[in-house]
Amino acid sequence: MSQFALTDEQKEFAKKVLDLARKVLAPMSYDIDKKGLYPWDIIRKFSKFGLMGIAVPKEYGGMGRNLFDVCLAVEQVAGVDVSAAMWVGVNIGGLLPLLNGGNAEQKSQYLPKIAAGEYITGVAFTEPEAGSDLHSLRTSAVRRSDHYVINGRKCFISNAGIAKVYSLLARTGKGKEGITGFILDADTPGLSVGKMERKMGVRGSHTGDLILEDCRIPFEKRLGNDGEGAGLAMGMLTFTRPLIGAQAVGLARGVFEYTLKYARENKARLSPYFENVKYRLADMAIRIEGARQLVYQTAFLADSGHSNAGKFSSMAKCFATDVAMDVCIEAVSVFGPRGYTSDFSVERFMRDAKILQIYEGTNQIQRVTIAKALLGR
Ligand SMILES: Cc1cc2nc3c(=O)[nH]c(=O)nc-3n(C[C@H](O)[C@H](O)[C@H](O)COP(=O)(O)OP(=O)(O)OC[C@H]3O[C@@H](n4cnc5c(N)ncnc54)[C@H](O)[C@@H]3O)c2cc1C
Repeated sequence: MSQFALTDEQKEFAKKVLDLARKVLAPMSYDIDKKGLYPWDIIRKFSKFGLMGIAVPKEYGGMGRNLFDVCLAVEQVAGVDVSAAMWVGVNIGGLLPLLNGGNAEQKSQYLPKIAAGEYITGVAFTEPEAGSDLHSLRTSAVRRSDHYVINGRKCFISNAGIAKVYSLLARTGKGKEGITGFILDADTPGLSVGKMERKMGVRGSHTGDLILEDCRIPFEKRLGNDGEGAGLAMGMLTFTRPLIGAQAVGLARGVFEYTLKYARENKARLSPYFENVKYRLADMAIRIEGARQLVYQTAFLADSGHSNAGKFSSMAKCFATDVAMDVCIEAVSVFGPRGYTSDFSVERFMRDAKILQIYEGTNQIQRVTIAKALLGR
């Protein structure tokens, strides 16, 4: 038995999340995608269940679940709707710098509101010239007596315009050591939401620019000390990359289940080449299970504070998201022309799958990180 065999409680937890996702999301997924909805009534149901505060410690009113359990939950949601898995996932990303770098006062001010779903969070890291290479970010934070003055532009920010609070990275000095983390309240004077993106997929997750013009952030909203921002970002990514892997496993499973059902129900139509379909299904199942095991193993290592958790996080994100994309391509092929229409959800899953290979560091960047860990440079 592996070290991470699911307990009865975890199986029950995953089933409850899946039941919730099927009940509240499945009837809405078509509209969420077509109309780009961020449905507050579903967010409230997620909050009531605890999903929006799944990673918030219990003492602040959250579920206090570890990464392994968060991955389990996110996998279930993504199997129905990837935008919805992002509602949960991005909220965790925005929370983590505060959880890892915030002081007691900051935590008691924000965490209970995040746990209750009253505050949605966002991650404001990427800039037009800094995404893959975060260390080249330009947004400046200049210290005045009791506050910082922030100027710059953040782009591709999930939950832009929805979040009540963002985790922000800005430059207080030179180089990697000059990056500092801040809590950025959405109503801070000088902060505005810029262009919103029209996207290929995950249309229920809103993405846009944040413009910071002489934005005054009080000193008390700094996370940790000056220069600790890059460390906060890495801490977040070690947690969120397996989470993207879990989104990918869920997505791939969702697509696979549709394809299996389609193959069973259309055996006669597929009969001239059913042998081929059979083995394609087998191949999809093998790859999904491989991706799941790597994501679970990585979450287990990260939860136990293993020194290689960062490398495994990149491996899990990269492998699982590549598998999800390949499984979608195979699924659409099995459906043939029908798979290319929006009558079947495989088309939506395929559009959604692409983003998983891009955000939280593209899969090329994951390979750079893994190679560095292997070769030591
Ligand atoms: C829908 C969506 C939601 C997002 N949400 C958020 C969010 O909430 N918060 C946030 O901060 N960011 C967010 N992002 C940004 C995302 O994380 C970045 O776009 C991503 O990490 C890529 O960085 P980049 O934009 O700098 O791409 P680029 O670095 O410009 O990448 C362009 C291409 O160059 C390749 N490349 C770059 N450097 C190397 C290298 N050294 N070796 C090999 N290839 C390389 C990349 O792999 C890619 O193929 C989001 C993006 C999208 C599309």
